[in-house]
Amino acid sequence: MNTEFDFELQVCAWAERHWPPDGDDRTVVVARQLGTQYRRWDTIVLECDPQGLRQRAHFGERALDSDLLHVVRNAPADWAWYRDALPDPGYPWRYVREAVHEAADRGIVDRRRGAGGRIELRRQCPYPDWIDRIVAIENKPDLDASAANALTDQLGQDVALALADEVWVATRATGGTVEPILLADCPVEAGVLTVDTGRRGVGSTTVRWRPRTLAVDQHGTRILDRPTGRGHDTSAARFEYVDPAWKHTKRLEIAERAYERGWRSYVSSMRPDCRYFQLSPTTAVARPYCTAKSCHQTPGECASSCPEFEPEPPGWRSRGWPIEGGPGRAIQRLLDRQRARGRPDL
Ligand code: SF4
Repeated sequence: MNTEFDFELQVCAWAERHWPPDGDDRTVVVARQLGTQYRRWDTIVLECDPQGLRQRAHFGERALDSDLLHVVRNAPADWAWYRDALPDPGYPWRYVREAVHEAADRGIVDRRRGAGGRIELRRQCPYPDWIDRIVAIENKPDLDASAANALTDQLGQDVALALADEVWVATRATGGTVEPILLADCPVEAGVLTVDTGRRGVGSTTVRWRPRTLAVDQHGTRILDRPTGRGHDTSAARFEYVDPAWKHTKRLEIAERAYERGWRSYVSSMRPDCRYFQLSPTTAVARPYCTAKSCHQTPGECASSCPEFEPEPPGWRSRGWPIEGGPGRAIQRLLDRQRARGRPDL
């Protein structure tokens, strides 16, 4: 049985190799399960400027949070006291000073003590403009009535807020005359993609509806509450406006986390040290596979509480495998290498 998790990994693997579905090849970074405190997207595709992406590598593999972004984006070309050089953050300067120290400790800005012991900083290179577009994909492999309702609500929020440049829904192709997704009450701004999936991953994709580009540089609307539409519900819709500056910052933060995590970080919440854990198929589109359960397991199943968990036998770690660990460690390293391949060196 293919779970939503397995479907999501297949969509991520496919997007990494083939995005966009029917256009020229783009340089992309793919991640999953990221967003804001209000909304988490299943799959995120960052369409990147290749040169900018290479320059981003200078700032390291780890994500820059909002405090660090404030520092590296505004660090001056010549030495200056950090309070003169950086814009007023709108929160206490001591947090900025901490961020300057952290950035210097990471080696992404220069720092020194100037006159009177003042902390001065200087940039090493400008923070690049590396993100062209952000695409959000909602994965709904099997579209029953309740999934369709939830989908309508989620896509409606995404379109109103316009934090991503494009919003899509990906669903499994049924082969019917009319795909069920086309009968769901989705916003017309959202694109629709049907995918054929199998044991070896996504076979083919079909664009059923093209998305509209959303106005990411204009005010958005965050829907806080809306009536269900049923007779007894007389409540009013509640919403708030979101300004473009907030959206710009939030997009950068999301992109930074996507850059660090990619889509293969799921392994950190599973048990690759279990003797039954495998990757299948054994290619770049590999997904976790449990030989005890004969299925692609979910992170919820593949946990310490799993009744069938068995640690790798110690012999696996001492014979054919390198001294750094057994097959489980090797799987983690393999996924890390595949993830790093999407982040070119400077
Ligand atoms: S037996 Fe349980 S812990 Fe081991 S790989 Fe399968 S699901 Fe994961």
